[in-house]
Amino acid sequence: MVNLNGLEPGGVWKYFDEIRKIPRLSKHEEKIRKYLLDFAAENRLQAFEDKTGNILIIKPASPGYGKIKSVILQSHMDMVGEKEAGNPHKWDTDPVEIEVIDGWVRAKGTTLGADDGIGIAAQLAILSDPDLKTGRIEALFTVDEETGMTGAINISPDFLSGTILINLDSEDEGIMYIGCAGGMDTLIDIKSRMVKAPEGSAGYEIKINGLRGGHSGDEIHKGFGNSIKIMTELLSRISSKSNVCINRFDGGNIRNAIPREAQAVIAIPEEFSDNLEREVKNFAINIKERFGDIEPDFKITFRKIPAPENVMHADDQQKLLEAITECPHGVIAWSKEMPNLVETSTNLASIKFSVNGDIRIVTTQRSSVDSSKHEIAERVKKCFEKTGASVISTDGYPGWKPNLSSEILNITLKAYHKIFNTEASVMAIHAGLECGLFYEKNPGIDMISFGPTIRGAHTPGEKIEIASVKKFWDLLLEVLRNIPEN
Ligand SMILES: [Zn+2]
Repeated sequence: MVNLNGLEPGGVWKYFDEIRKIPRLSKHEEKIRKYLLDFAAENRLQAFEDKTGNILIIKPASPGYGKIKSVILQSHMDMVGEKEAGNPHKWDTDPVEIEVIDGWVRAKGTTLGADDGIGIAAQLAILSDPDLKTGRIEALFTVDEETGMTGAINISPDFLSGTILINLDSEDEGIMYIGCAGGMDTLIDIKSRMVKAPEGSAGYEIKINGLRGGHSGDEIHKGFGNSIKIMTELLSRISSKSNVCINRFDGGNIRNAIPREAQAVIAIPEEFSDNLEREVKNFAINIKERFGDIEPDFKITFRKIPAPENVMHADDQQKLLEAITECPHGVIAWSKEMPNLVETSTNLASIKFSVNGDIRIVTTQRSSVDSSKHEIAERVKKCFEKTGASVISTDGYPGWKPNLSSEILNITLKAYHKIFNTEASVMAIHAGLECGLFYEKNPGIDMISFGPTIRGAHTPGEKIEIASVKKFWDLLLEVLRNIPEN
């Protein structure tokens, strides 16, 4: 049995050790919710639960601290449950088994839940310490951050009253996060006419794979190849040389990943077969040249198959290829305030054919500036409307635009410098955080996000660096000591 008792700070690790024993996968938070409510009762603190299951525990201001601004400390109570193949761990009953290796706490073959168990533990350590002198603390624990941010989406603006929010869900000690991207999906439905393939056609299946893919937020700026774009370019190129008829074209998989693979089934005139081989090979060389070392494993393969019976009507096919060619993909704009931050991007995520000619294309847009997100979605929509497609955009979730003159940022940077005698970094991320939703509901709110160092979150290798937890805790206390009066 591993003992976390000796670790510093004792209060945080004590609660971390309790929380890791409580099953709490996203959308199954009953047990952790009960634990939090019991904790509040034991510590004689007021607790509130909203319709969605978010919990708020209030610690009143210490005597003499009544004029200090209220601070919302926020974490999410759910975790991602991943385990190594063959691991018998049962997520609805078993405690997460841990080990301490080389200064890190990690789980044995499962996710650890330091994301965001360490945030919860820090909140509980603050709430339960009667000697800590602070203004009023509102400790907010949201549900279901990991599979849809349902808790943050449904939180009512009047559930919270503080004007400063510290989000405890970041994974790099020493980096203060002050912004995130909002996101939305633009979904395209095309009804294409299917017709008989021309007499004397040969059938081919073409596959693209081996691309890096990557996360459509964190990795969109890396310039990885988009399999749907590349396949479209190939099909357009051979269409200009011969009568190519598309039977199917599928690519990509999930909305927040850059597509890594694509497949097409086509019919071409039998006599073009030899040329096709040459065209595809030349094209593959061009693409390898274009991406170089970025995409070392890129591959196009093709094989002859029985000619398909039905193919797209030539006009519909032409319009589809043109629309995908025009559709933007990748970084649209960089932040003017923050170096190396992608402000706006769009991902052409997937295309799926069904036998009757219905085509569904999924694209996702992100931006820390809400109007820019809608503007790029509108451009995507325009490309596809020419095909007669029906295009809808989801409401999505809002971004949090960095504010370099934020008061809580200033307090945190000074606190960091004072304790560690070095400067913290300031960053924003091009992906979603719950903060975007809090910002939307309460545009006046002043927010920051920081945490200890966690690596491999959402994977069985997830681990947390012990020394960074002490630094995270010391910083949090110093920030709370420096919150000004109202
Ligand atoms: Zn998290």
